Amino acid sequence: MNLEGFPDLPAFPPGEVWLAGAGPGDPRLLTVLALHAVSQADDIVHDALIDPRVLRLAHQDAVLLPVGKRGGRPSPKQDEINALLVERARAGRRVLRLKGGDPFVFGRGWDEVTALSEAQLRFRIIPGLTAGLAGAALAGIPATSRDTNHAVVLAAGHRAEGQSTADWEALGRLGQPLILYMPMTQLEEIVAALQRGGLPGDTPAALVQSATTEAERVVESRLDALAGDALRHGIGSPCIAVIGAIATLRRQALASMVGWS
Ligand code: SAH
Repeated sequence: MNLEGFPDLPAFPPGEVWLAGAGPGDPRLLTVLALHAVSQADDIVHDALIDPRVLRLAHQDAVLLPVGKRGGRPSPKQDEINALLVERARAGRRVLRLKGGDPFVFGRGWDEVTALSEAQLRFRIIPGLTAGLAGAALAGIPATSRDTNHAVVLAAGHRAEGQSTADWEALGRLGQPLILYMPMTQLEEIVAALQRGGLPGDTPAALVQSATTEAERVVESRLDALAGDALRHGIGSPCIAVIGAIATLRRQALASMVGWS
C-alpha cells in the first residue's frame, strides 16, 4: 500500500479526549483515524463490544478502562464515565473514548461531548460505521435502493433509562423502512404499534445479530412473525431489526455476494 499523498494523521496532544466509533464489530471496519487514535492513546475508555484485537493495537503502556456491561455486572453510570474522561484528561493523559458503531448514533456520545465542553477540555470526534447501516449492508441489506425507498428511519427500541419515546404508530404510517437498534425488549409492542399505524403484517423484516462478526446470524421474517421468530431462533443482543422492502433484497444478492470472513 503506497500512502504517499495521503493526508497526515494528527498528533494526539496530552490532555485531549478523542471520542471515536469503532464500527459494528469487525476490527477491519475501523476508520484510519480510529486506528491511529488507538495506537496513540494513553488511556482507552471502551465499551464492552469492542473487539479485543482492536484493543491489542494500543501501545504497551496504554491503560485499558472498560466501562461497558460485562458478565451481568451493571455498567458504570453515564455520569461516572463523563467524570472519568474529565479526570484522565485533566491529568494530562491522551484519552480515547472508544465506542461501538458511531458515537452519535444511540451511543450517548453527545452526553460526553457536553461534559467535556463544560469542563473546557479539548476534544475531537472520529465517526464510526454504525451497526444499523454497515451491519445491515454486510448482511446484504441496503439502507436504500432506487426501487424500494427514498427514506429510511433509524430508531432505538428502548433507551438505557427506559422505554423509547418514538411514536411507533406514526412511523408505521410513514410506510418507509425502519432499522431498529436495541429492538428486543419491546419488540412485540413496537410491532403492534407499527401495525396500528398501518404497516401491513406481511411487510418483510429481518433480524441481524452480531453483524460483521464471526457470530453473525440473520433471520428473515415478516412484521407479524418477527417477535415469534426472534424467540424461536434464540436471537439476542446485539441485534438490529430491519423492517421494510429492503429486508428482502438480500435474496437477490446473496448468491454472488462474498463475505469478508
Ligand atoms: N453507537 C452504536 C449503537 C449503540 S446502541 C452504533 O452506531 O452502532 C447498541 C445497539 O447497537 C445494540 O443493542 C444493537 O441494536 C446495535 N448493535 C451494535 N453492534 C451491533 C452488531 N454487531 N450487530 C447488530 N447490532 C448491533
